[in-house]
Amino acid sequence: MAQLLAGGLVPLTTTDYPGCLAAVVFCQGCPWQCRYCHNPHLIPRENPEAFTWSQAMAFLARRQGLLDAVVFSGGEPTLQSGLAEAMADAKAMGFRVGLHTAGVYPDRLEKVIPWLDWVGLDVKAPFADYGKITGAGGGEAVRQSIRLLLKSGIPVEFRTTCHSRLLPESDLLNLAAELAELGATNWILQAFRPQGCKDALAEEKSEPPSQELMAQLSGRIGTVEYRAA
Ligand code: SF4
Repeated sequence: MAQLLAGGLVPLTTTDYPGCLAAVVFCQGCPWQCRYCHNPHLIPRENPEAFTWSQAMAFLARRQGLLDAVVFSGGEPTLQSGLAEAMADAKAMGFRVGLHTAGVYPDRLEKVIPWLDWVGLDVKAPFADYGKITGAGGGEAVRQSIRLLLKSGIPVEFRTTCHSRLLPESDLLNLAAELAELGATNWILQAFRPQGCKDALAEEKSEPPSQELMAQLSGRIGTVEYRAA
């Protein structure tokens, strides 16, 4: 049985895999400490309330024919040594497989590419500035993950959490240029959500991007959408 530790499961969602009814398996553990993380309980590698892949599968078996897809989210799912095996199980049960990742481990991401039908990739900041969000750098690994995914041809949604103080206009413009240079043509800007965030950032007001900025970003990368909280 696949070695995968889950810290949570959403039995039904219409918003985590575009166009699909999906269940979301939240994988336990993440090497980063993003300031805006709203799932900090998923960051430690252990959690007394965590459960195994075989327990998640028992639930999914009861949803065969009712759900279209299983999304592996986190935490950082590629931290799990059994992710590819778990994805193969989900496929064998007839589900499409989605992945939410921050692109932390390009080598591990490459190993699961054969199982993927759709990916939501969180891009945190201009690649040289990752440390200010994650506390651990990581931008070059993410750049490599983006290259791998775009080369694979798998549909990818690039998403960036916007907090106007943490990621000012100049950062968004730089990131748009960097993503476009890699070949990305779509980008979702999602509003910072204070719920669950343990950082002082949660107390600060964040302004949405102006129409003028959105037009400038679209001019650099193509389709840019802002999702309010
Ligand atoms: S990568 Fe995701 S799960 Fe990990 S700390 Fe950042 S926001 Fe939280």
